Amino acid sequence: MTKMNNPDKKEQQPDTAHLKKNGKAKAGSSPEFNLGENAFYDIFFKKAPEAILITDSEGKILMVNKSFASVTGYKKSEVVGKYPSILKSGLLDDKFYYKMWRSLKNKGSWRGEIFNKRKNGEIYQEWLSITSLKNKKGEITNYIGIFADAQSRITQKTSESFNKQYYDPLTKLPNRLLLQDRLEFMINHARRNNELMALLMLDLDRFKLINETFGYEVGDTVLKTMTERLITCVRDVDAVFRLGADEFAVILEEIARLEDAAKVARRIIESCSVPVEINGQEIYVTTSIGISIFPTDGDGKAPLFQSAEKAMIRAKEMGSNTYQHYKPAMNTRAAEQLALESSLRNAISRDEMFVYFQPQLELKSKNITGMEALIRWKHPEMGMISPAQFIPVAEATGLIIPIGEWVLRNACEHAVEWQKDHKPLVISVNLSARQFQQQDLVSIVKNVLDETGLEAKYLELEITESLGMKNPEQTLKTLTDLKAMGIKIAIDDFGTGYSSLSYLKRFPIDTLKIDRSFVMDMIEDQSDAHIVKTIITLAHSLDLSVIAEGVEKEAQAQYLLENGCEKMQGYLFSPPVSAAEFLKLLNTQNKDTMQLVNYFCDDL
Ligand code: C2E
Ligand code: CA
Ligand code: CA
Repeated sequence: MTKMNNPDKKEQQPDTAHLKKNGKAKAGSSPEFNLGENAFYDIFFKKAPEAILITDSEGKILMVNKSFASVTGYKKSEVVGKYPSILKSGLLDDKFYYKMWRSLKNKGSWRGEIFNKRKNGEIYQEWLSITSLKNKKGEITNYIGIFADAQSRITQKTSESFNKQYYDPLTKLPNRLLLQDRLEFMINHARRNNELMALLMLDLDRFKLINETFGYEVGDTVLKTMTERLITCVRDVDAVFRLGADEFAVILEEIARLEDAAKVARRIIESCSVPVEINGQEIYVTTSIGISIFPTDGDGKAPLFQSAEKAMIRAKEMGSNTYQHYKPAMNTRAAEQLALESSLRNAISRDEMFVYFQPQLELKSKNITGMEALIRWKHPEMGMISPAQFIPVAEATGLIIPIGEWVLRNACEHAVEWQKDHKPLVISVNLSARQFQQQDLVSIVKNVLDETGLEAKYLELEITESLGMKNPEQTLKTLTDLKAMGIKIAIDDFGTGYSSLSYLKRFPIDTLKIDRSFVMDMIEDQSDAHIVKTIITLAHSLDLSVIAEGVEKEAQAQYLLENGCEKMQGYLFSPPVSAAEFLKLLNTQNKDTMQLVNYFCDDL
C-alpha cells in the first residue's frame, strides 16, 4: 500500500505502545480504530476472502485479517506496528507511488494493480484498493487496504526480466508495453472521474541522420538528453514513455482544458530545439508531436493511440518541429485560447481592463439602490472581449485570482468615491468558484475593505448556486466569516443551478438573483412566469430579498412588481456603463427616476 512508500517518512521502529493499552491489538478495542459491530467484524474482516490491512493515519499497521497472512505469508504479529513497505517489491517507480498518494490525499481512495513481495521473496501481483477514513473534523484517522492475489506470480529471479520487458535500458523510461498498461488504467480512471486526459506522441525529426552523421554513441546521448528535457516539461504526475528508436509518448492526466495539452506540446518543442552540445559540436534536434484527447478523440486505448499517431504524422507533413491535434479545428481553437491566455496575463498591467457598473433599482420607487461591477477587457487588437469569453480562461489558469481582486478593489474604490456626494449604494461584485475556494479569501476581502475605506455593509458578493453546493461545509464557513464582517451575499443566476433548499436555509444569504433566462421569456412563456413567481415566494419564505436581472421590457418590470419582487437590473433602465457614465446617471437620478416612473405608470 502507498503509505509505506511515503517518501517523507523514514521507516521507523514499530511503535506499538498504543496497541498494548488494551492488552493485545484486538478489533474493536484499538483506541485508533473501532470496527464496531461484532457481526461486521466477523463477516467483513475476519472471514473476508480478500486480505485486509488497517493502518493508522501515519500508515502504521494496526490490524490484518487471516487472508492477509495467506496472501503475504506474514503472520499478524510480524506486521502489526510496522509499515506496509515491508511488502514493497521494488518494481514500481517513485512516480507510481506519488500518484497513489495524491489520489489518496485528494480523493480519499486509490485502486489499481500493484506488485508486492511475499515473506518468501516471491513477487506477486495484487489488486489493491485503499480508502482513507476521516473523523468528523475531516482529519484522516485510518487507511484500509483490501487486496487480492491477482494470481500472476513473478519470482525474484524474473524481476530483472520484468524490468527488461517494461523499461527501456538506455533512457530508463517505461516502454510501449507499459504504456499500453498505463493507458488503459488512466483511461478507466478518467472515465470514472469524468476527466480529460491527453496522449502526446512524439517523434524526433531526422534522428536517423544524426545517427548516421555522428554515430550511434552520439545518438544515444541525444536520446538521453531529450529524455531529461521531456521529463522537465511535464508535471510530476504525468508519465513519459519511450516507444521505439526516436519515438516517445506522454500521458497527461487530469487536464483542466483542451488547450493544456497544446501548452505542454509547445513547451516540449521549445525545449527540444535547444541544441545539444556533444564533444564541442552543436547538434540540432527538433520534434513533431501529435495530440489526442480522451474522450473526444478516442474512447479507448487503441483509438486514442491511433488518433495521436495520425496527428503526429500530420505534424511531420506540415514540415516538422510542430504539434497537431487529431481534430484540426482544435489546432485553431488551442492557438486562439493560448493567445488569449498570454494576453490576459498582461491585461491588467497594460491598463486594458475596466470595470463597468450596472445600476440596480428598487422596483417600487425606481431609486438606484446599488450597482453590479462587471469587468470589461479592451484588447488592443481584438477589441472588446466579453467576460463570458475570458472569465473561463481566467478561471482555468488561475488568473481570476489577481483579476478578481483587482475588480473588487476597483469597485470598492468607486463606491467610496460616489458616497462623497450621493446616498451610499451597495456595490455587488461577482466571485468566481476559484476565488471562493481561496484559503485566504476572507482576509483578502477584509484588506480591500480596509484599504479602500468601504464599510462592509455596502459590499455584496455574488456567488453561483453550484459553487455553494460543491463543498457545503467549506462554503458555510466562508460565508459565515464574510457575513460576520457585515458583507451581504447574493446567489447569482438563481434557478439555473442545482440548489438544495436545506442549504439555502443554512447559508447566510441575503439575496436571490433571478436568472435572466427566466425573466427574458416570462411574458410570453407561462412556465417561466411561474418559475419567477415561485422564486419570489421561495425567497420571501426564507427571508431573502429578490432581484431580477436582465429586465428589458416594461411588462417584465410590471409583472415583477405585481409579484412582490423588490429590485431589478437590466437594459430597461441602463446597460452596464463606465464609471464616468455611472456618475452621470447618479447625478441625474432624480430626473431619470421621474422619467421611469412616468414610463411605468401612464396615469402619473
Ligand atoms: P452575470 O453576473 O450574470 O452578469 C449579468 C450579465 O448580464 C452581464 O453580462 C450584463 O451585461 C448582462 N445584462 C444585464 N442586463 C441585461 C439585459 O437587460 N439584457 C441582456 N441581454 N443582458 C443583460 P456581462 O457583463 O457580459 O458579464 C457576463 C458574465 O461574466 C457575468 O454574468 C459574470 O458571470 C461574468 N463576470 C463579469 N464580470 C465579472 C467579474 O468581475 N468577476 C467574475 N468572476 N465574473 C464576472
Ligand atoms: Ca452577477
Ligand atoms: Ca447573473
